[in-house]
Amino acid sequence: MPSCAECGPYACASGDKKKAPASCPMEQSSKTLDRVQKEYHKPEILNMAQNAARVEQEGYCRWTRVEEIMIFARKAGYKKIGLAYCVGLRREAALFNRILKDNGFETVSVACKTGSVPKEHLGLTDEEKLRPGQFEAMCNPVAQAELLNEQQTDLNVLLGLCVGHDTLFIRYASAPATVLAAKDRVLAHNPLGALYAGHYFQRRYNIEQKP
Ligand code: SF4
Repeated sequence: MPSCAECGPYACASGDKKKAPASCPMEQSSKTLDRVQKEYHKPEILNMAQNAARVEQEGYCRWTRVEEIMIFARKAGYKKIGLAYCVGLRREAALFNRILKDNGFETVSVACKTGSVPKEHLGLTDEEKLRPGQFEAMCNPVAQAELLNEQQTDLNVLLGLCVGHDTLFIRYASAPATVLAAKDRVLAHNPLGALYAGHYFQRRYNIEQKP
């Protein structure tokens, strides 16, 4: 099975395929790789792939992700942007929503707590809530996805959805998606900080296996 994350030569990136390791999917799964090439001939996929590459090239180390999202959307012809965001980032969502509108996009935005369904609906106990004894609305990523599906958004942008809630949103959403920010409450929504400063965190990474 592919284990690119353990590769040394990265022959795929250099084009020098002779240096590929034995476990390389270019060796082991060449049929799959040949087959998927045809996917890029589908107009919808080609549109995304071409414009992603153009944004990469034109904005390389110059454009912020906010800019890249808007320029990618404009190039790809996406006019209606769905914003699936966390209420913990409501200020950021309001600002990003306004930036999108100021730049000519139509927006549809849905907060994670929509529906106001109590966490008990998921079979969670009072002790499993952040603040036991109080009403706590469950995050509702399935509703976020379905509400955006109903509005037939062209592109969805995830902003700070929790781990697992983003998983559910992606599972249910119809439109293509990109991520403005991945939530990390400890690291100012910069999850890679835990890897860049890995020596501070190393002892915490032996995550205890719980049933
Ligand atoms: S595709 Fe092959 S060469 Fe590229 S990273 Fe994976 S194992 Fe390495």
